[in-house]
Amino acid sequence: MITINQADRLKQLPPYLFAELDRKKAEAISRGVDLIDLGVGDPDLPTPGNIINSLAAAAREPKYHRYPSYTGMNEFRKAVSRWYAKRAGVTLDPLREVVSLIGSKEGIAHIPLAFVNPGDVVLVPSPAYPVYAIATLFAGGTPHEMPLLKESDFLPDLGAIPLDILAKTRMMFINYPNNPTAALATEDFFRIVVDFAERHNIMICHDFAYSEMAFDGYVPPSFLETPGAMDVGIEFHSLSKTYNMTGWRIGWAAGNEKIINGLGRIKSNIDSGIFEPIQVAGIEALEGDQQCLADMRTIYTERRDTLVAGLQKLGINVASPKATFYVWFEVPAGYTSATFAGLLLDKGGIMATPGNGFGDPGEGYVRMALTVSRERLAEAVDRMAAIGF
Ligand SMILES: *Cc1c(COP(=O)(O)O)cnc(C)c1O
Repeated sequence: MITINQADRLKQLPPYLFAELDRKKAEAISRGVDLIDLGVGDPDLPTPGNIINSLAAAAREPKYHRYPSYTGMNEFRKAVSRWYAKRAGVTLDPLREVVSLIGSKEGIAHIPLAFVNPGDVVLVPSPAYPVYAIATLFAGGTPHEMPLLKESDFLPDLGAIPLDILAKTRMMFINYPNNPTAALATEDFFRIVVDFAERHNIMICHDFAYSEMAFDGYVPPSFLETPGAMDVGIEFHSLSKTYNMTGWRIGWAAGNEKIINGLGRIKSNIDSGIFEPIQVAGIEALEGDQQCLADMRTIYTERRDTLVAGLQKLGINVASPKATFYVWFEVPAGYTSATFAGLLLDKGGIMATPGNGFGDPGEGYVRMALTVSRERLAEAVDRMAAIGF
């Protein structure tokens, strides 16, 4: 027998706040509850057929069966640069300023290994996608939380970060359209970020996962469009949410050559890139028929309108999100994030995510994902009306 101890980096992981809710969810399902799961940020819609066909054809070609390049097929990276030129008016050198990723989570998790030394600080938003802070910890860095508060439209207050922290800061993560708050960045905000990065010598990593999931004609700006952005940062992106491809694992990082190069050096020592037929299908996603985007936006707009109108009728103060498939709202008076999510699950068979699970400043909120049909969302609202709170 040997003693098996986990490394300190695992021991320092923050407590998993969804554990209790996961347990309740499993228990409800085993009791036979007809659960409406609004907890997970994973599209319920299928990947468009043209993309699947492209994978199937490429999978039959032996030339695609060998080790891929860890930086990605040149053709895929060229398609990414064409996407940036068309979508954002940004010119990228596909071979130096784009690296493919096995989903953007992979790149986000690895980038601190390239640039963060023990003791260095990384600015992370809170509430947020948990990977920014955890990747920082794994690299031996110290995450410094930037609270995203309603009174600042869920944008970080850069002026509130102490100077002694800034002196040790190497990197900042931001994410707009935002998960979990559905907040939007203005072009002005991105200009302030570039200026701040230059002043304090901080690399910017913008997570653009929800770039195309936007409604009412709103077009989210790319961080790389901001003057000077290419000098200070990169943008993470993924086909996951845009084309219902979360299970395929394909994304990219684009932007500053030195930052892309550092990330590529880490990757070249850890993974061997994305299966090439998936990259071929990724090119089809980016350059094939884009009707699927219009269809996706119509479906989420209808779902959003059903849920938001229903919640408002119940007296809940909720704004209609212009992007992402999340509805983020303050729980009714007298509840915490956890007690309200618990009530919805126990009394209504509705799974929502407690906001504090994304970080302390998310306390007092819950997040609902629009990943079930309009009928099921209407049913969720009816059940909430029956609970009464
Ligand atoms: C879904 C999501 C991702 C995407 O992850 P992939 O690894 O590309 O599937 C990245 N960032 C945020 C904020 C997300 O919500």
